[in-house]
Amino acid sequence: MPVLDIHVHVCKRYDWQPAVREYIDRLNPDFYKLFPEQVTGEGLIDYLDEHGVDRAVILAEHSPRATGIVSNDFVSELCKVSDRLIPFAAIDPEEDVDPAAETERCLGELGCRGLKIMPSYCWFEPDDPRMMPVYEIARDRSIPVMFHMGTSVFPGTRIKYADPLLLDDIADEFPDLTIVICHGGRPFWYRQTEWMLIRHRNVLVDIAGIPPKHLPSAFPKLEAMSDRFLFGTDWPGVRSISRQVKSVESLPFNRSAIENILWNNAMRLLRLNGS
Ligand SMILES: [Zn+2]
Repeated sequence: MPVLDIHVHVCKRYDWQPAVREYIDRLNPDFYKLFPEQVTGEGLIDYLDEHGVDRAVILAEHSPRATGIVSNDFVSELCKVSDRLIPFAAIDPEEDVDPAAETERCLGELGCRGLKIMPSYCWFEPDDPRMMPVYEIARDRSIPVMFHMGTSVFPGTRIKYADPLLLDDIADEFPDLTIVICHGGRPFWYRQTEWMLIRHRNVLVDIAGIPPKHLPSAFPKLEAMSDRFLFGTDWPGVRSISRQVKSVESLPFNRSAIENILWNNAMRLLRLNGS
């Protein structure tokens, strides 16, 4: 079964703050052995091959107050090695002087295929007026926008901006914008996330950071709504992508639901063909 991981992180050695590096070292001690200086496109492709992953969305990160900065340029460059690597740009209205201009640069010049927004790491409301032009651009270009929603242990995080209901206005005002709730609002906003899925056809969920065995209880309607859930791992925040794939494959869902989660939904979201 083909696999697309929609939530993969990369870095240079000192991009992440010490708390993040320590966290990764604890959860995935092999990561810095494999990539002591920086993740490379070639090295990442080898890793994905080893773990049976066909494609991966690679996320830039702009949150100097919390986790660090993995630049849009670095991610775009790394992904040039193979079209199996799909770059997503980070936009931060607190730091980007002109968020719309940076969005245009990333989607144009840098070839990014989506956006990753981190309100709780950058300290802004998702419906901040400075972000509206960004959402307009994404909508007009049919580009998905991922939002980090859910708790985080890192110092410098403002959890009040991580409630999935904060996306309700945007989803309503931009019915043609595709919104991805990363982490499904883990671990105590699952009901809000499910309600967002029911209310808004343009909202999807990525399961990164949710242990797969918890999915049936976290989202009791998941199998019936399997066209709305996306496989993601938050690697290197988990030790092994293939282990996560196996856990998803062993869930008590029908095969088409599992295929939707692991592959079909993301391919549709990214407007990609092929297997
Ligand atoms: Zn992540």
